Amino acid sequence: MTLVAGVVAVQGNVAEHVTAIERAAASVGEDVDVREVREAGVVPDCDLLALPGGESTTISRLLRETGIASEICAHVDDGEPLFATCAGLIVASRDARDDRVDELELVDVAVERNAFGRQRDSFEAPLEVDGLAQPFPAVFIRAPAIDDVGDAEVLATWDGRPVAARDGPVLTTAFHPELTGDPRLHRLAFFDGDETR
Ligand code: GLN
Repeated sequence: MTLVAGVVAVQGNVAEHVTAIERAAASVGEDVDVREVREAGVVPDCDLLALPGGESTTISRLLRETGIASEICAHVDDGEPLFATCAGLIVASRDARDDRVDELELVDVAVERNAFGRQRDSFEAPLEVDGLAQPFPAVFIRAPAIDDVGDAEVLATWDGRPVAARDGPVLTTAFHPELTGDPRLHRLAFFDGDETR
């Protein structure tokens, strides 16, 4: 059976997620048909979804305007997997602490946007992630940090701050796994790729 994957493509790192999903699927022998989601009506056909980084204020506004927002919420309510990265985490959070972000409230965390300071706007760090046997090369770009964690489970911390979490079918990272060519986090998000059990 071919799985249908959607990459939310209203704005942000779309092509990289398409490639990362194809690579992760190939690594577990799954066939996948990846679609870019620009309008309502596509998400209901998707078995799995990625919500990329970009600019969270713009992404959240466009998701509401297009009607995609409620379809993403229905997807998660149905227990289908969502992988939200960087700005995607901000949009998926319970509280972005910024009135310009219209949160989807799918991940029970608050976030602080641009939490890692101007002098370290972008950096790469080897990150220990629960569920992965070896550190992940995490690329942070004006990344948020997670705080005020409710029901979500923290999977990784950097500088003492949570940067990856799971809440039911949603996996989320403050960094950009789609930029590294390493399929392990997409595998963990979509194909139960826990290497440690
Ligand atoms: N700083 C961006 C925001 O707050 C997120 C950056 C990213 O997705 N790379 O929306």
